[in-house]
Amino acid sequence: MNRKKDVFLCIDIGGTKTSFMLIDQDDKRLFYQKIPTYGKLGIEALAKRIFDELQSESENYKILEIAISCPGPLDLINGRIINVATTGWKNVPIVHIFKKQFGVGALLINDCTAAVLGEYHYGAGRGYQNILYMSVSTGIGGGIVMNGQVYEGKSGNSAEFGHISIERDGKVCKCGNVDCLELYASGSAIEKIYYTLTGNRMTARDIAVAAKSGDVVAKKVYEEAGTCLGIAINNLNKIFDFEAIILGGGVMESYELLEPSVKEVLEIRNGTDIQIKLQQLGGKQGLYGAGYYMRQERIKRNSVNHCVETGNKVWEQAL
Ligand SMILES: [Zn+2]
Repeated sequence: MNRKKDVFLCIDIGGTKTSFMLIDQDDKRLFYQKIPTYGKLGIEALAKRIFDELQSESENYKILEIAISCPGPLDLINGRIINVATTGWKNVPIVHIFKKQFGVGALLINDCTAAVLGEYHYGAGRGYQNILYMSVSTGIGGGIVMNGQVYEGKSGNSAEFGHISIERDGKVCKCGNVDCLELYASGSAIEKIYYTLTGNRMTARDIAVAAKSGDVVAKKVYEEAGTCLGIAINNLNKIFDFEAIILGGGVMESYELLEPSVKEVLEIRNGTDIQIKLQQLGGKQGLYGAGYYMRQERIKRNSVNHCVETGNKVWEQAL
């Protein structure tokens, strides 16, 4: 009888899609799948569906542990979701739910932290020590690596770039702040602004297609979004002095529409060269980063004989 191979399960939960991947102890990727999140059905249902999808692999692989990348804000100490606006999840013990479903230990990581770790170690951030990764899709998020270390902030919920104010128009954001970047440059903002100007409801991707086909309004909407992104990037770079800014997320598939205005803002306002690069992991940043994070946590834990309980930080208290 063949011995089952020991593997880790990395999961990247998004508002609409959830992807998961099995990796072995040498970081070799063995299985990848993407499914709809169906947030309204709840986390238990999502955990069960991932479990069921992996049944076909269960003859070959034995899952040792799970790393879950999830949008925040999260309570990493207790392995809980505080609030995920896109799915309506509030105060959910996500680590406990996955642990119960799979019967193995699990840890939670902020999706922005996972994404920046992925690009830093495996993608466009390789070779640098100080990078910003900004993901622009339905919303805007990202992460920061400073001196070779991901910056997590006091609670692991740092780098909420989508919610820094870049204007003073007084547009109220769902986060409670006003004039957040997300209201001007995210995929949903592009859709909303285009609809306001034309009365046509289209996806950001279709608006990009229209812009490339000569739709003047569509082109202008992307240009304005680029200007706002440039302002935000410039502000962040003034604080951190990055070696490279890495842009990812669905909206960046149309980067050529944003690039002239992003660069114009940076040239006018910055004066020094800012290296801008596009992501290289095609939306798998979160999975790669979650896998990396888990291996690092295991190394730390094994070195002091910690045991696996709920939540990655709890391990440190479970001696
Ligand atoms: Zn906001």
